[in-house]
Formats: sequence, structure tokens, C-alpha cells
Amino acid sequence: MEKERLLEHYMRFEATEFELTGTYHGDDLGAIWTEEETRFRVWAPTAEQVVINLYKTGEQDDLFQNIIMRKASSGTWATAIKGNLNGVYYTYSVTVDEETKEAVDPYAKAVGVNGKRGMVIDLSSTNPSGFTVETKPEFVHPTDAFIYELHIRDFSIDPSSGMVHKGKYLAFTESGTKNTYGDSTGIDYLKQLGITHVHLLPAFDYVTVDEALLQVPQFNWGYDPQNYNVPEGSYSTDPYHGEVRIREFKQMVQALHQNGIRVVLDVVYNHTKEGIDSNFNCIVPGYYYRLTEEGEFSNASGCGNETASERAMMRKFIIDSLLYWNREYHIDGFRFDLMGIHDVETMNEIRKALDSVEEGILIYGEGWTGGLSPLPYHKRAVKDNIRNLNIGIAAFNDNLRDGIKGNVFSSEEKGYITGKEGMEDTIKYGVVAATHHDWVDYSKVMGTSYPWAAEPTQVVNYASAHDNYTLWDKIVLSTPFNNREDRIKMNLLSAAIIFTSQGIPFFQAGEEFLRSKPLNEEKTRFDGNSYASPDHVNSLKWDLVTENQEVINYYQGLMEFRKAHSVLRMTKRAEVEARLRFLKWLDNNLIAFILSHPTEGEVCVVYNANNSWKPVHIPDGDWRVYVKGKYAGNEVLDSNTGGVVHVEPISAMIMVR
Ligand code: CA
Repeated sequence: MEKERLLEHYMRFEATEFELTGTYHGDDLGAIWTEEETRFRVWAPTAEQVVINLYKTGEQDDLFQNIIMRKASSGTWATAIKGNLNGVYYTYSVTVDEETKEAVDPYAKAVGVNGKRGMVIDLSSTNPSGFTVETKPEFVHPTDAFIYELHIRDFSIDPSSGMVHKGKYLAFTESGTKNTYGDSTGIDYLKQLGITHVHLLPAFDYVTVDEALLQVPQFNWGYDPQNYNVPEGSYSTDPYHGEVRIREFKQMVQALHQNGIRVVLDVVYNHTKEGIDSNFNCIVPGYYYRLTEEGEFSNASGCGNETASERAMMRKFIIDSLLYWNREYHIDGFRFDLMGIHDVETMNEIRKALDSVEEGILIYGEGWTGGLSPLPYHKRAVKDNIRNLNIGIAAFNDNLRDGIKGNVFSSEEKGYITGKEGMEDTIKYGVVAATHHDWVDYSKVMGTSYPWAAEPTQVVNYASAHDNYTLWDKIVLSTPFNNREDRIKMNLLSAAIIFTSQGIPFFQAGEEFLRSKPLNEEKTRFDGNSYASPDHVNSLKWDLVTENQEVINYYQGLMEFRKAHSVLRMTKRAEVEARLRFLKWLDNNLIAFILSHPTEGEVCVVYNANNSWKPVHIPDGDWRVYVKGKYAGNEVLDSNTGGVVHVEPISAMIMVR
């Protein structure tokens, strides 16, 4: 469809009357299977005709029936086909302005290879034994979470994983797996680590990996959505039969739940891989995407298009999709890619919808866009507007991230842990979860000048994620004159900051064993954008678990300590303001604070980013030391009576009285 005509359609949909009268509110979009018949309904309000095509497979030239659908209520087209259609593939041929396009049902629950056709499915046949009655690991407050960001293929693809189902959902079901040294890998390792949530990089059906060519190693992060309500096929053992990926995805979720770990999906509703030729746009041209005044697809995603969440049927699609993943796959949380492209109202509706079905579902996202958007700034779900979002919606704290290690787009720039001066208030900003606290000087905070969060539950604190260099690589690149021992201390200090800050802690898989993405044998160059890099760059190298056991122990110890002290996980800003006080008159690059609890006592935390021992004055008392040097946990390492304590170079010290 040419630009002018697309823009005409777009403008017609802009009219408020359309949103009022043209919206479909039913919950039966897609293909609803029963043994006797399957009912189909698709929303296509501008179509002149919609035909449903039935195929035997997901890719071959084997059309066996097509039926003209009847025009039904509120812009939908519907039909019911008798017989048991389980396993039948289908598409819609939609005619708009006398132009006909074949498209996959956006509500398809199953698809064939490479997501080219939808498939009718009896979902009950895909449930692993015990799945429908499983109980989830207990979880209450967002700030109780430890989120571990993981790519499904990275998890198992390296030879050192010791797993059989390399690169597959099923790798998560393998217990007893070992690395070269005989130490645990895989799900056993995740369980021992003590995390509460695995956050999976995109696991819905995406485009870039060719599912018909899996004998050739291919890698992609997966930020190129195709079918939102279907698992990605390349992670299944058989992408050709729509039911297989569904069953195996559920087996993965079940295995994680059985090991005490909840599951968060990285959802990318903000754009699709295709724009003008996407399923959305073939079915309702000009509706689902924002256009510029010239009729071009606007591009706040940096990927060629951006969806229009403010439009009723796009908003409904996102909410229906999230509820479906929660209900059918038992998903426990959602991370919104480029959340700033979505509007505030949609995000709040999402929170409401998920709250209405289950407590404890995590929602967080990137509080920014990847380019210019026509959506007015005040409507965007960006960090600056987080106060207009429900307190159960969090954004990534990139201010703390960059404060800890330096700007992510520069390899040389240092941060607090690597020796940059004047970073105290940026780190304190993370400690108070980007909320207001009288003892933080916001004019000295890097990248912002005010507390953007209203409550600590609105903030995800982190030092590294899949984007940019790994934490270890960033440390190595920015500290050419430090040795490995210093660099490990820097990494530990980073972890101490993340796990003793208010808010929701998050880390990239392998950060705890010094994950690296080297580009050469000498390990002097590293991959800062590995979205399509080979496995040997991206994969988790499980032998590092043994080689860097001390670092893992420290992360584990910090998580155990955090679990044991509720003052590290406060849910209200007012509580943080009342119970957290920073110590004053400290030397440069020292930060110290005391958290008071009426029954649990007081926790004193000190960070020393100086490469020398530093004395710190703390109140008198019987202090028991739980974290110092390379050690962290719930065992007493040392004790003192307050006054002056000496803190090791580049380290954290944590005491309780
Ligand atoms: Ca795919």
C-alpha cells in the first residue's frame, strides 16, 4: 500500500469516534479449538473481505480449503469450522482497498516453522505432567527479588555446560550436569546460586534465526518479534510441529519453578521485525503503528517502526498477550523492552490486568526510547514519568549503572568502582533507589538531577545486562594499569552496591563468574554489542564457575545477607527516609550508611573505592562483621566496638549490631 493511502487510513483511525465504535471487546480473537469445531475471529474493520486458508503443514504448498469469513460485530470477521482441527495450519487473506494480503493471525497460539502460518491447537495436549496443578515459588514484594538475566541459547550451548539439549528449552530440565572440573552447571547451579527470578531474553517467535537451518549455528538476542503469543521455534527440538515448542517451553518453566525460580519474559511489544508487511499491517493497514506526518513509519525503536499502544486494539493485544503468557505458560513477570515507547495509560492498564489475575507478577522495563517518537513526552512510560505509573512498575536505574562502572558507550570511562572521583552522590542515588532522601545531593548525581522514582519498588538496580560490555570486560577495558586482583575487587564492590541498595537487584547471567565476551585469543578486545555474534562470544563458559568460585561465593553471600535483613528490601520511600542515614565527614570515595530496624537491629554498610585502607568513624556498639574483603554471608567474620574501623582497599564492609 502506498504511503498516501496508508496515511489516509492512519488518520481515519486517529479520530476518537473510531476508537469508541470500532473497538472489539470480546475475548475470543484467534482460533478457539474444541473437538467438535474450531471458531475463528479476527479484527479487520477496514477489510472488504477476509478468507481463511487451511493448510496441512506450516510451510508446504498444501492448501486444502479456503472459506470466506462472515462480517461480525465491531469490525471482526468470524467463522466456525466443524471437525477436529487440532494441528491444522491457517492464514487469513485480507482484502483492503482491493488489495489482498496473506497474514498470520496475530492471536495465533501455535505456528509452523519460521512462524509463516498459524496452527489450530488443543492446548491441553501440550501440558507436561503435573503442569496444570504446579505451585509457584513463593514471592511477595518486588524488592525481595534477585533477577538473573539469561539468554536461552547461551545457557547451554557451550561444550562446558555438560548438557545434552544444547541451545534448547529442554536444557533447563537437565539436572546433575557438570562442567569440565566436575562442578554443577545449569539448573542445579541456578538453584544453588539463590536467585528468585530468571529473566529470559526474548523467547516469543522472532525472525532472524532460520528455524529450517538449525544444523548451522545461528545466534540472535531475539529483539525482532514475529508472533507474540508463540514460543520461538529454534529453541525447540522440532520447530515444524507447532505443539512441540509449546510443550518444551512449559517443561522449561516447570523445571525452573520446581527449583524455586520464577520466570520473567523479556517482551518486545514496542516494534515488530516487519513494518509495512507485518501481520498487523496486512490485516489492518495504518492502525497498529505510529506514522510520521509524512506517512513514514516512525522509529522510536531504532528498528524501523514503533507500535501504537495508545490505540485501543494495540493496547488490548498487549494485555491479552500478557494474560495469555501468564495463564497458559505460568509466567511470573515481564520486562518491557523500550517501555518508553508505550504510553503511561497502557502500562497502568497492564498492571491492573495482571493484578486482577495473580499477585506478585513483576513488571519492569527500559524507561527510555531508542529514537524520536510522535507520542508526546508526557505520555511516555519513561523514567521521567515513572511517578505517573503504578508503584508496581519499575524502570532500570541506568544512573546507578553508569555511576558504578562509567558510561556504557565508552570503553575507557571509569566509574566509582574503577576509581573515578566525585561519584559519591550518584552511588547514594542508587542506595536510595532513585527516590527522594534528604542526604543525597541531587545536583551531583550523574545523568539526572532529581529523584525520578516515587517508591523503591519502581527501580531496578543493576551494573550490567545483555547490552554493551559485560561488567568484567568494562572493568578490564577501563583500568589498563590495574591487575586482575584489583579488578576482581572492583567487581565485588559493584555487587555489594547492587545488593545493599534499595530497589530491585538485577544482574546479567555470569556476572558472578566474571563473564567475558572476548573478540580475540589474547582477550584484549571485547564485544560491546553481541546481538548477532557467534556462540563462542555469547555463551556462558561454565568452567569459569570453578575458576572464579570466590566471586560466586561473594554474590551468594550478599544475596543471603540481603534475604536475612528486611531493611535492605524496604518497599516504601518514607520508610527508607526514616530508617536510612548516611554517615558524614568521610574521605573521598567513601560511602557509609546505617539502616535501622526496630527488631532486627542496625546494619552499617561502607563502600571504599580507594585503592588503600581507609578509616571510617562509626557509632560505638557491639558490631559483628558479615562482609569484608572477599567474603560475604550470614556468618560472623569479625567483630569490633565501633569508633574507628579500617576498611580494606576497593571493598565493602558490612556490620550488624
Ligand atoms: Ca522464529
